[in-house]
Amino acid sequence: MIDEAQMRERLEDERAETQALIGRLTQGIDEVSAARDGDNSDDEHDPEGATLAFERSQAATLLAQSENRLNEIAEAVDRLAAGTFGICIECGRPIAEARLEARPYAAKCVDCAARD
Ligand SMILES: [Zn+2]
Repeated sequence: MIDEAQMRERLEDERAETQALIGRLTQGIDEVSAARDGDNSDDEHDPEGATLAFERSQAATLLAQSENRLNEIAEAVDRLAAGTFGICIECGRPIAEARLEARPYAAKCVDCAARD
């Protein structure tokens, strides 16, 4: 049996952590941008410029993933409210509890997620 109250708590924790991460990433991207703007060197021929660009693109990727995660968490909270939490949105079978323990925002069972 899935403990809904516990899952709700887990989802709230995940949401708080993800929001904190987004805050740090956003700040980090701003700092990298500021460091770049204050530097007139030619990026293409400056190894440091290339590193900054790489760091910024990595942070941007992580940021996009985190925003996606927030959506997944919001959808999982909706499923809790709707009484469909723990049911695979693809095949309608129950999602293994061990999977929900690890990823309370999981929308699909392992089989369906593997087919994505
Ligand atoms: Zn499935």
